[in-house]
Amino acid sequence: MEDKNYRERIDILGVPIDRVDMEMALEIFEELLASPGCSLIVTPNSEIITVAEKDPAFKDVILSADLVIPDGIGLVYASHLLRKPLKQRVTGIDFLERALSRLATTGQSVYFLGGKPGVAVKAATAMEAKYPGLVVAGAADGYFDPMREEEVVEMINASGAVLLCVALGAPKQEFFIARNKTRLAVNTAVGVGGSFDVFSGEVKRAPRFYREHGLEWLYRLAQQPARIKRAAALPRFMVMILLGRGKADRR
Ligand code: UDP
Repeated sequence: MEDKNYRERIDILGVPIDRVDMEMALEIFEELLASPGCSLIVTPNSEIITVAEKDPAFKDVILSADLVIPDGIGLVYASHLLRKPLKQRVTGIDFLERALSRLATTGQSVYFLGGKPGVAVKAATAMEAKYPGLVVAGAADGYFDPMREEEVVEMINASGAVLLCVALGAPKQEFFIARNKTRLAVNTAVGVGGSFDVFSGEVKRAPRFYREHGLEWLYRLAQQPARIKRAAALPRFMVMILLGRGKADRR
């Protein structure tokens, strides 16, 4: 029988990543939805790990998360190099879609916060059409005045949503959730990066070939060349892993 010890975590540059596959991640998601308080789900890739390395406050937020999903082929490669292989890459956007499809069957609702004006509403309409029964209880863009943050939280709470998806980009979205965790009435909050851009059709996701060969970053780079600095995080991350492993081997 499959070992159900799904809290096993793999340490990658000081950041613990849950060794989960998609089904395990969804099981934990359902547990978190049923547990009191606002739980936090994060979906780091190698770029986010390198940001956390330099920003202890962000690292602390990831350390406080209830579920850390390995979104990124770099993490899977790194885990193999570290000889503690992760089960698989669980893409944040695929996880989110599966989570939404579950909410569609339970009648629990979700709130979409983030993206350029109009994008969250467009994404909500698209997801409600794709998953009949899904209720997006509210949607708002991510370019609000920080002075209005309390108002935004009140709007989310008034919607009655159990899940909050925050698309402000990392680490802004994780800081938003951490800062408001005790005030948020939702059961679970997750940072979803550019997912609404994809759901709304504003940005195209990489074709299957790229996704299956760990080349999604290359496709995104071709679509959004301004991401070149961000794409450079992957080789830098691999070098950090190799240097770390070299040190460990010499010990
Ligand atoms: N965004 C936002 N408010 C901000 C900064 C960013 O709503 O102040 C949105 C932006 O419009 C985009 C998302 O956050 O939809 C970040 O997307 P990105 O592709 O950078 O996400 P990641 O690569 O971090 O998943």
